[in-house]
Amino acid sequence: MNRLLASFALSALIATPAAAQEYPTKPITMLVPFAAGGPTDTVARITADAMTKSLGQQVLVENLPGAGGTIAAARAAEAEPDGYTILIHHIGMSTAPTLYRQLSFKPLEAFAPIGLVTEAPMTIVARPDFAASNLSELIQTIKADSEAITYANAGIGAASHLCGMLFMSTIGAQMTTVPYKGNGPIMTDLMGSQIDLTCDQATNTAGALKANQIKGYAVTAAERQKALPDLPTTAEAGLPNFELSVWHGLYAPAGTPDEVIKKLTESLQAAVRDENVHKRLDDIATLPVTEAQATPDALKERLGGEITRWKPIIEAAGQFAD
Ligand code: ASP
Repeated sequence: MNRLLASFALSALIATPAAAQEYPTKPITMLVPFAAGGPTDTVARITADAMTKSLGQQVLVENLPGAGGTIAAARAAEAEPDGYTILIHHIGMSTAPTLYRQLSFKPLEAFAPIGLVTEAPMTIVARPDFAASNLSELIQTIKADSEAITYANAGIGAASHLCGMLFMSTIGAQMTTVPYKGNGPIMTDLMGSQIDLTCDQATNTAGALKANQIKGYAVTAAERQKALPDLPTTAEAGLPNFELSVWHGLYAPAGTPDEVIKKLTESLQAAVRDENVHKRLDDIATLPVTEAQATPDALKERLGGEITRWKPIIEAAGQFAD
């Protein structure tokens, strides 16, 4: 090879490192910031299965719950930026910077976004033997003796925490809050009547609602869900302007090579196109995003917009964590 050719070959190699070209050559870990069996875990496992098919390498789910999802996010922010550690996280990524005074990472700087994954409404649900038969009765019961009612959430910054915080400030009553590591364990305790109430993503409640294992009061969406046709919207049930949609995004640590992010984005896009993914999510009132939303730009825009949107709401509620 003459010198000129050799230097061309060298600069091509430098532009795209061989490791990034061949990626992935071993299993990828997808960190999940909540316990197994909950909505984030469900979305993660469905997505990881589909991505395994298109990447040709196993995408393994690892649950790392705690502190409303910030423990897993901090771990992912510090991980080697080589594409072998990625993170799925929800709306909590955008509320953490305001809720947590000592957050070790800045979401918009610490991650290379891969794309949005899903959207799902929340549902206000209770143990199966809870007496109130509709949302107005539920609100009356809470107001009569709010501290006697236990409300479960998945830690500060979890969607169940946000929904509970908004619900309590809207009705002007504080229930006794019980923190868990995720809505998987909450659902077990709710079905067993060990806890009174929670607000959880339809992803996690649809199955139990259809099987009458828990009581449902409302879905926090503008319209009823096809998978849950009998569940009224919050507005129909007497709580107007109470809508909450929980979105999930997929992230890699900042500094992950562009070539690797491109492969992960393409694989995520294949997942949101996958008919099997649609079918599994349809049954649990969860919507895969469009291919155009399963992109780094769409996630970056959503994350930035939501950080700005939640800041004043959280500051008004005045609940922070260290
Ligand atoms: N996503 C749930 C929440 O935010 C937690 C979980 O996925 O287990 O409350």
